[in-house]
Amino acid sequence: MEYYRPGADVHTLDRLDVIEALRAGLGQNQLRVYYQMKIDLRTGGCQAVEALVRWEHPTRGLLQPDVFLPLAEHTGLMRTLTLEVLELALGQCRRWWNVGLEIGVAVNLSASNLLDKGLPAKVADLLAANGVPARALELEITETTLMLDRIRTAAVLDSLRDMGIRIAVDDYGTGYSSLAYLRELPVDILKLDKSFVMHLDSDPGAAAIVQSTIGLAHSLGLRIVVEGVESETAMRRLTDYGCDFAQGYYLGSPQPAEELTPLLWHRWNQRCSAGSVPAEDRMVTAGLERIKPASASRTWP
Ligand code: C2E
Ligand code: CA
Ligand code: CA
Repeated sequence: MEYYRPGADVHTLDRLDVIEALRAGLGQNQLRVYYQMKIDLRTGGCQAVEALVRWEHPTRGLLQPDVFLPLAEHTGLMRTLTLEVLELALGQCRRWWNVGLEIGVAVNLSASNLLDKGLPAKVADLLAANGVPARALELEITETTLMLDRIRTAAVLDSLRDMGIRIAVDDYGTGYSSLAYLRELPVDILKLDKSFVMHLDSDPGAAAIVQSTIGLAHSLGLRIVVEGVESETAMRRLTDYGCDFAQGYYLGSPQPAEELTPLLWHRWNQRCSAGSVPAEDRMVTAGLERIKPASASRTWP
């Protein structure tokens, strides 16, 4: 028997309200992108930032992604939302390059994006329109999404990668991918989920997982990013374990581009003074026209 539940009604109304407001707000300059640095643990430099969406709701203020992304995914709004985030992130990437900060940007994709056969062409258009080389773009896809529909998502993933875009497995360790599958995946980067690093100090099991995942990634020719780094101790341990990149509040919270830019300059100088600008990067620095052609091999950066 169904009882009248006022709370449930309010919840339903609220959901509809949010969905309608989002539908109306997309394309209306209401999305904001915050950027979080990925730090190169060898040099302390920053080679790339992750773009994290927020929504400036007309009456409720700045909303975090967990409030609206699941609704967007379930109501078919994710394609438009992702393209708007890509447009904003690539536009910002271009502005950084214009002033000499030649860093990459990582954008998150959802499950429905990977089923969208038109996505690679749209991404190619956005890269060209913003004058950003494909190798400056990373796309992050959660392990669970990658496992969902391997056959139907393979074509989209392969085309993106053939263009020279790097693919990262996000939230690695929270899904159920087998090691055999990981070997075959068309990916370049593993992002170990923050739940492991957060217990690095207190749980020897977590430390063993972090250490062995770093070894696993390297033996498969992948780069590894560990997220959720909240302390100096965690950062030091990751450096000792040979981790490539780290991301977390200790190294920098997600921020609007204007606030992040001075910090990026600081990190950029650190990277250059460590003498770590690889030959391939220097080629990029010399001009966009000399960007290496897209390659399907696992190279870095
Ligand atoms: P994610 O991709 O795993 O992003 C990392 C999340 O962890 C971000 O939350 C970030 O603010 C948070 N974080 C960063 N450093 C730390 C740390 O040291 N400790 C802890 N506890 N958390 C940290 P945020 O920005 O709320 O994003 C949540 C999720 O929403 C993201 O998780 C991603 O899955 C999704 N998301 C964000 N923007 C987009 C987008 O444009 N498209 C899609 N499809 N998903 C997005
Ligand atoms: Ca991510
Ligand atoms: Ca993640």
